[in-house]
Amino acid sequence: MKAFEVVAARDARHAVALLAEHTPTAKVKVIAGGTDLLADLKFASASHAPDVVVDISRAEDLRTIAVTGGGLSIGALVTHTEIMASPAIREMFPALVDAAHTIGAVQTRNLGTLGGNLVTAVPSVDSGPTLVALDAQVTVLGPGGERRMPLAEFFVGPRRTALKPDELLVEILIPTENLGKPACFLKFGLRKGQALALVNVAASFWVDAKTQTFRAPRVALGAVAPKVIHATSAEAYLEGRAIAPEAMAEAGRLAVGDAKPISDFRASAEYRKHLIAVLTRRALEGAYDVWQKKQSPAGRAR
Ligand SMILES: Cc1cc2nc3c(=O)[nH]c(=O)nc-3n(C[C@H](O)[C@H](O)[C@H](O)COP(=O)(O)OP(=O)(O)OC[C@H]3O[C@@H](n4cnc5c(N)ncnc54)[C@H](O)[C@@H]3O)c2cc1C
Repeated sequence: MKAFEVVAARDARHAVALLAEHTPTAKVKVIAGGTDLLADLKFASASHAPDVVVDISRAEDLRTIAVTGGGLSIGALVTHTEIMASPAIREMFPALVDAAHTIGAVQTRNLGTLGGNLVTAVPSVDSGPTLVALDAQVTVLGPGGERRMPLAEFFVGPRRTALKPDELLVEILIPTENLGKPACFLKFGLRKGQALALVNVAASFWVDAKTQTFRAPRVALGAVAPKVIHATSAEAYLEGRAIAPEAMAEAGRLAVGDAKPISDFRASAEYRKHLIAVLTRRALEGAYDVWQKKQSPAGRAR
């Protein structure tokens, strides 16, 4: 491994100042929990290895989980374990807890951060589908200030995001109108723990209680395209449609056409297509289950 300099940031603004100072003359990387970056560094060729690493792990301002005027704000440094333990997230978005729970093992979840997971941007990123299905936005901070974009656009391709070299991901925001939106995340890997997803799917929708129809349905697919994608045909089909098992099954079939799965040593494209149809249907059923539980007297009392 090539030697590099480590500079520690006190907070987000300091991190951005350090990036601005070093990026013009050096290859610079940010380190948060290090679960992805350290593995990358071990195998990086000298031409790709960083000269300077900006350590943001002590930037406490990036560690908050709070409901703000804009929605549920999750700091980029919040770990998967902290997501699983957060009362606000457990109450409003059990699907995010389920997604965090599938990431690696306890040690990885204790160190690995939500920001690091999203910036790594592998197509199978497990926090991605639920957040995309909840129309999450991300806030990035650079020398010119903050900019915000939908997470679905932050992902550009395999291991590529819209982040510039001198920018930091600071916040993930689930907008106010989606607080408490019923959602469900499902992951299928070759074993239950420590496995990359062959396919991961999240679904969310509001239920129009009067007409029992889908409102603002979202289906997000991971590991079946170069980045996490919306299954737009399935979403368009469900909008305003009566909630029924047949509609959920048809949405699953349509979602297959929205994806571009590949064959690799883990699974064939055909098998992945089968998984997309089944998991999409089950994720829609799961989100409806979440809604129904909230309608029960016990659910409303919480
Ligand atoms: C054994 C093992 C199992 C794993 N299993 C899974 C799994 O099941 N599912 C899954 O999705 N992932 C898995 N991962 C991947 C990894 O743990 C997660 O992606 C983790 O959340 C990364 O966070 P981190 O803080 O460790 O990131 P780091 O390693 O610190 O950084 C990762 C990348 O993001 C950049 N970065 C980090 N934070 C920021 C920021 N705020 N702004 C700008 N750039 C930033 C870094 O420069 C680096 O390029 C696994 C990893 C290991 C080692």
